[in-house]
Amino acid sequence: MKYILALDQGTTSTRAIVFNRSGRIVAQAQQEFRQIYPQPGWVEHSPQDIMASVMSVIAEVLVRADASARDIAALGITNQRETTIVWDKSTGEPIYNAIVWQCRRTADYCDSIPQETRDLIYSKTGLILDAYFSATKIKWILDNVQGARERAERGELLFGTVDTYILWQLTKGRSYATDYTNASRTMLFNIHTLKWDEDLLRLFSIPKSMLPAVRPSGYMFGKITGGALAGVPVCSIAGDQQAALFGQLCLEPGDVKNTYGTGCFLLMNTGDKAVRSQNGLVTTLGAGLTDHPCYVLEGSVFAGGAAVQWLRDGLKVISHAAESEAIAISVKNNGGVYVVPAFTGLGAPYWDAHARGTITGLTRGSTSGHIVRATLEAIAYQVSDLVRAMERDSGMHISRLAVDGGASANNFLMQFQSDILNCEAVRPCVFETTALGVAYLAGLYCKYWGGVDELKENSSDCRVYIPCMSEAERTQLLAGWQDAVRRARR
Ligand code: ADP
Repeated sequence: MKYILALDQGTTSTRAIVFNRSGRIVAQAQQEFRQIYPQPGWVEHSPQDIMASVMSVIAEVLVRADASARDIAALGITNQRETTIVWDKSTGEPIYNAIVWQCRRTADYCDSIPQETRDLIYSKTGLILDAYFSATKIKWILDNVQGARERAERGELLFGTVDTYILWQLTKGRSYATDYTNASRTMLFNIHTLKWDEDLLRLFSIPKSMLPAVRPSGYMFGKITGGALAGVPVCSIAGDQQAALFGQLCLEPGDVKNTYGTGCFLLMNTGDKAVRSQNGLVTTLGAGLTDHPCYVLEGSVFAGGAAVQWLRDGLKVISHAAESEAIAISVKNNGGVYVVPAFTGLGAPYWDAHARGTITGLTRGSTSGHIVRATLEAIAYQVSDLVRAMERDSGMHISRLAVDGGASANNFLMQFQSDILNCEAVRPCVFETTALGVAYLAGLYCKYWGGVDELKENSSDCRVYIPCMSEAERTQLLAGWQDAVRRARR
């Protein structure tokens, strides 16, 4: 068998990527699909659209790689996390659209839950009660789709995150399962006992019969029935951020990666220790091949690359995201200007929903170049705040940051990140670390690769950024940032 195929079902597009034994991309195909906004703050996807995009990118990537099912050793699935689908067990028909992780429809319900219950949820799931996670979305479907609750109680309905739905469809209902990483984002899974939690199921009135089996991320999930991939085994499933952590080979406690996309996602492997955060980070499960998944500390920045989009579409001071790099280095320094891109509030470690975007330090000499530079620097400051919070929570020192995602292409941003953190930032050659992560998991499971050492030999760093800023300058810049954050807060 020549290849491993990874399917990356994301929030706005679905991708299929064929990897060879060196972990390099042989071919890829991508398709965007419809976003449905039924009301302000609500976001849905059509599960049928998702499946159509899955089938289409698989067909296309096989043509591009000049490959057939016979060449594919295994399929790995990675997915947008938390997004919720409920379907009829006998027909496979979804009873409602997929409710996407971004959807805020259950925010008021979440607000009504008392602190004592929130503490219970955190102690069992490692999550901060929020509309983001699947539990309240499932409850909403059962409460609002006519007859759904009765059907669920009769055992006629199934719930799945997107991975589970795709697996069920590809195996024509024979395999009904998810993995630890996806289960840990539902807010129904106890990350300490590694079981669906009876108390939480009762709290959200969700029958246990509608929950999938939970497996390690690398596992024999079943064989594809029919179609272009008939007979190919599905050997891995993992949520996108945990897949990226695995793809970056952050396999030891203390290993950290940050993905610079629209938002930023910082994940740290904390080994067999579930760290309780004092700084509003969440604790979740990592991807692996055994029944003992590692624990992961996770934090996110709301406006990462989105701040660069704002420079382009809001301020119109750049015409392409990549242009920001040349403009940032065209000025000597930030000229005392700080941008706090708190467009939708500030997340960890501040958790201030009422904070708003702010520019400080403007003088008569300030130029658009300073604002562009300060915006890129702000992405790095926000990540730095998360890194420091993670260090405080875990008691581990971070000396190397693995980076990926669209904005990690920006050399100014990566150098500044390394300078501000005073640690190395390492960018791999294969940017598609999410897909690579599930390819690795599937390939290790089916013995396409002999072991992690082989993967380490194959992986190569595209670029390593070494800190070269004086302590005095770092201290001064961080003080300026902290001052700007204070002004941005309510
Ligand atoms: P997502 O997966 O969230 O869609 P991507 O990983 O594709 O995100 O990254 C896209 C984001 O990265 C956009 O917000 C874009 O503004 C930003 N971006 C892309 N290239 C650059 C660049 N060279 N410099 C700065 N930001 C960039």
